[in-house]
Amino acid sequence: MQYVSTRANPAQSAPQSFSDILLGGLASDGGLFLPTSYPQVSDAELTAWRLLSYAELAFEILKKFATDIPEADLRALTAKTYTAAVYKNVRAGEDPAEITPLRVLGFEGDAGLVLQSLSNGPTLAFKDMAMQLLGNLFEYALAKTGDQLNIFGATSGDTGSAAEYAMRGKQGIRVFMLSPHQKMSAFQTAQMFSLQDPNIFNIAVEGVFDDCQDMVKAVSNDLDFKARHKIGTVNSINWARVVAQVVYYFRGYLKATLFNDQKVSFCVPSGNFGNICAGHIARQMGLPIDKLVVATNENDVLDEFFRTGIYRVRKSAETYHTSSPSMDISKASNFERFIYDLVGKDSARVKALFQKVETAGGFDLSGGPGSDGDEFKLVAQYGFVSGKSTHADRLATIRDVRQRYGITIDTHTADGIKVAREHMRNGVPMIVLETALAAKFNETIREALGEDAERPAGFENIEALPQRFTVMRPDVAEMKAFIAANTGL
Ligand SMILES: *Cc1c(COP(=O)(O)O)cnc(C)c1O
Repeated sequence: MQYVSTRANPAQSAPQSFSDILLGGLASDGGLFLPTSYPQVSDAELTAWRLLSYAELAFEILKKFATDIPEADLRALTAKTYTAAVYKNVRAGEDPAEITPLRVLGFEGDAGLVLQSLSNGPTLAFKDMAMQLLGNLFEYALAKTGDQLNIFGATSGDTGSAAEYAMRGKQGIRVFMLSPHQKMSAFQTAQMFSLQDPNIFNIAVEGVFDDCQDMVKAVSNDLDFKARHKIGTVNSINWARVVAQVVYYFRGYLKATLFNDQKVSFCVPSGNFGNICAGHIARQMGLPIDKLVVATNENDVLDEFFRTGIYRVRKSAETYHTSSPSMDISKASNFERFIYDLVGKDSARVKALFQKVETAGGFDLSGGPGSDGDEFKLVAQYGFVSGKSTHADRLATIRDVRQRYGITIDTHTADGIKVAREHMRNGVPMIVLETALAAKFNETIREALGEDAERPAGFENIEALPQRFTVMRPDVAEMKAFIAANTGL
């Protein structure tokens, strides 16, 4: 399996292997990596996969993409990653060995509404599903070369903690994670800052999230510094993260159906389009998915595109701070992967469209007067539909699900259920991906239900644990000095 950039000139660029792109982020031309073609899954394979454990299924899917990693190694890596001990934060009555347990909430209209829990890992959000694998893949790759990697990133919550819990104690890896000082929830802060592993560096920046991101950009733009200190990232455009996410779409399908002629739909609470991009890839591989439902909050960049064909990124000042904060994005960093497929893998078109995003704030594929193309008419054949949800919708949905089905869902999952309900008209089961547990966003649970969300065992008193972090001003020179002092390079 070979990989190319969405913006590559095919005449000039050599395809790369899975291992070549594993530790990288963006391609050097600014595009994102994709396989030259999507591997296909046969009917016989799908039938055989019905009997596999989650880890075995992950191995079968990964080996189609990571063809340059020896199969025995890949099998060991997936077995080590997807174990019940790591995904133990399940609801009462659910089996942690399922890794992503499915729960049929009930029949609504003429279809089953199903929740697939992706948030039972160490940080209680779906990002663990991919990040845990990434931690093990990185450690494996670095051990082979004897190299080291210093991960540098900014977080407003979920990504940073998932990265730290995946990389803690890993040989050859250090994590430098910036977060806005005193701006994360007490729970999220405690999750990250209570880590005592010497390879984890929490840096609380006196500023807002944008200041943190600006610092990451400034350091990343200094190519000399980046190379000398072996700086890397783990953001959602990383290809291995996307592949790891493909696995749970297969798992959800296999657990919700008995026969391969059945279809299911997925509804995905979306921000950077990483999660649902994996659903798109699963569908392109031949998984019988009917609809892929994109659910957004008030930050509806993606909903707008899937309704109109117009992609219009927002300025930071136009980005709302909502009660589903992990979906508060101004542009969707993985969206380019879908656009590449939509425009027939024409990398010159992709390059022009995303250059237009930089210069003019977006592009228009509606086919209307003055538009940049008419490919919006093809979107339906990829199964995509969308909807948006507001704070009032979240509160109402959290209350409703609690009342009808007796469970408490988090704010992002509430956005998913609200939008899923608008697309359940054809008798096809609708699987909503549960992207976080309610305990992470307790402030809104209290607002909706008048009581605290349940916390999984072991999380009862995390706010009281000793915290380890460094407070810094948003000063690039100071930041570089801090990194240099701690990498020893
Ligand atoms: C990151 C995140 C999302 C959004 O996922 P994308 O891959 O960015 O679309 C949704 N919900 C939760 C809880 C998250 O942490």
